[in-house]
Amino acid sequence: MEFFTLASSSAGNCAFVKSGDTAILIDAGISAARIEQTLRAQGEDPACVVALLLTHEHTDHIAGAARLAEKLGIPVLASPKTWGALPFAAELPESLKREFTYDLRLGPFTFEFCKTSHDAVQPVGLVVRAEGRRLGYVTDTGAVTRGMLHTLRELDALVLEANHDRRMLAEGPYAPFLKRRVAGERGHLANDQTAALLASLLPDKPCPVMLAHLSETNNTPEAAYRAVAPALRRLTERPEDWLTVAPAHEPSVRWQI
Ligand SMILES: [Zn+2]
Ligand SMILES: [Zn+2]
Repeated sequence: MEFFTLASSSAGNCAFVKSGDTAILIDAGISAARIEQTLRAQGEDPACVVALLLTHEHTDHIAGAARLAEKLGIPVLASPKTWGALPFAAELPESLKREFTYDLRLGPFTFEFCKTSHDAVQPVGLVVRAEGRRLGYVTDTGAVTRGMLHTLRELDALVLEANHDRRMLAEGPYAPFLKRRVAGERGHLANDQTAALLASLLPDKPCPVMLAHLSETNNTPEAAYRAVAPALRRLTERPEDWLTVAPAHEPSVRWQI
C-alpha cells in the first residue's frame, strides 16, 4: 500500500491510498482542481481513484467532494447519518452515493470503521486493509473512544490527529466558545492526548506514525512532534525514523506500507 496526504489541517484535508493500480481518497476538503493537480504532480493519474470516503460532513473534509465525484465519475461513501448532513446530497446523482457497510470492498481494499467523538452527526475513523497490511486513519476526535481503541490494533501505519497545544489554544486568539469547542469531548485531540493514545496503541513496537490535522493557529509541527516523540522513544532510540508531521498545504512524505 502507498499513502500520502495532499493537505492536512483545519483548512482542508485529503489523503490518498493506493494498492496496485487502484486508489481511494479519504476526505476532499480542498478543491477538486487542486486534488487533481496535486495527484498529477505526485505522479498519480486521477483516473486510478475509484472512490472517495468522507469521515464526516465538516467543510474542511468535503469542500471539493461533489465536484470531484462528478468529474471523475466515482462514488462518494459516508456513514448513513452523514448523508443527511451533506449539503450536496440532494444534487449528487444517486449512482454516486453509497453508505459505509461493514463488508465494504473497493478493489483490493477492505475497511474497519470506528466512532470518533466529534461535533458531527456520525463521524468515523477507519482502518484501510490491503495486501495484508493495516493503515489506521483518525482525525477530528475530542476524546479517545472505545471503538478507536478496539479498531486501531496491530497497525502497520497510523495517521493520527494532533490538533492543538493546550497552552497555545488557551492563550491564543480564538473566542472563548471556540476554545471550549476545540478542547471539548467532541472537538479535537490535543498533542498530549495524541501522545497518550499512541503509547497505549503501541505497547511493544513502533509503527510509522503521521501526525495530522494540526491547527495552524494553536499548534506548530515542532510542538506536536516534541509532545508525541516520547511516546515512541520508549520503543525506539530513533523516533525520527518513525514519526512525521503532515504539512498543512502540501503533500506529506509518501509511505510504502
Ligand atoms: Zn476537520
Ligand atoms: Zn471536523
